[in-house]
Amino acid sequence: MAFPASGRPLNSLNMNDLTANWKRKDLLSIEPLHREEIETIHQLARRFKELQASNPSSIPSLRGRTVLNLFIEPSTRTRIAFEIAAKRLGADVTLVEKAASSLVKGESLRDTAQVVEALQADVIVLRHSAAGSPQYLSQIVKVPVINAGDGAHEHPTQALLDTFTMREHLGDSLEGKKVTILGDILFSRVARSNIFALQKLGAQVTLSGPATLVPANFEKLGVTVELNLRKALADADAVMLLRIQHERQTSTHFPSLDEYKSMYGLNQARGAWLKPEAIIMHPGPVNRGVELDSSLADSGRSVILEQVANGIFTRMAVIYLCLSACGKTKDTSQ
Ligand code: ASP
Repeated sequence: MAFPASGRPLNSLNMNDLTANWKRKDLLSIEPLHREEIETIHQLARRFKELQASNPSSIPSLRGRTVLNLFIEPSTRTRIAFEIAAKRLGADVTLVEKAASSLVKGESLRDTAQVVEALQADVIVLRHSAAGSPQYLSQIVKVPVINAGDGAHEHPTQALLDTFTMREHLGDSLEGKKVTILGDILFSRVARSNIFALQKLGAQVTLSGPATLVPANFEKLGVTVELNLRKALADADAVMLLRIQHERQTSTHFPSLDEYKSMYGLNQARGAWLKPEAIIMHPGPVNRGVELDSSLADSGRSVILEQVANGIFTRMAVIYLCLSACGKTKDTSQ
């Protein structure tokens, strides 16, 4: 993992060194981040991963702090990873889901958030189907807000864990590495966050899939749109599959899932178009047999479960950094 600007090796840095360059209260999106900020998150995630393996009791404690998981849209791995991340840091976690909250009784997000703040949550992790809601929330509450996915806009911690996992496999520097994102790009917050993160880290991004879900105007973001799947896969160092985001589509973008599978599903035959060392990624949930065959999802080339595990360390880093920017990383239990 890259050394910081000081040139000192990562293992010689203490928590203060690792957090010194982070000034943001919130993590709302990848788009405005500088490359150095992504490096800072990755370095701290790396440190947490090493400590977890070697000496878990030396992980700095956020005991006495409360992380509130406000999940207004369904989630399994993101919600659980944030929960485990907070607990590994010694913080308390409270979960509010839409069905079990007053939001179903018509309470606004603003009111819910203010109540939550009055209850003294120290961090709010928000997943919401409306793009921009974490930003809106961050303007209302004083505590850090972390975006856990907002509509088709961004899913910043997913891109952070994806690029962290790529760095572990493809080499510390992603400069010049080729990453192909295949599937429903149009409605994917994962694609958007990854496009920003990968470009900031120097990687080259190619998008592929049905033309209706991979509009050519994405090229304005500086990526290559390659609708010929064979070409899109041929020189990739990593391929990231995306699920069809039915919940965000308002019209039909291809005839049927069977059609999608027959044209774009990654199966053994198409997997052979990849370089032998290319890795296969998926943010989950995987629709097995549609965008990805089980034989590949469960193969040695798949890093899908490593992505899930790395999601804990990257989210520990994000929670810790946002609290450190507010001067709230001290253990409050003593
Ligand atoms: N889990 C990812 C997300 O929340 C990807 C997906 O749902 O397909 O956006």
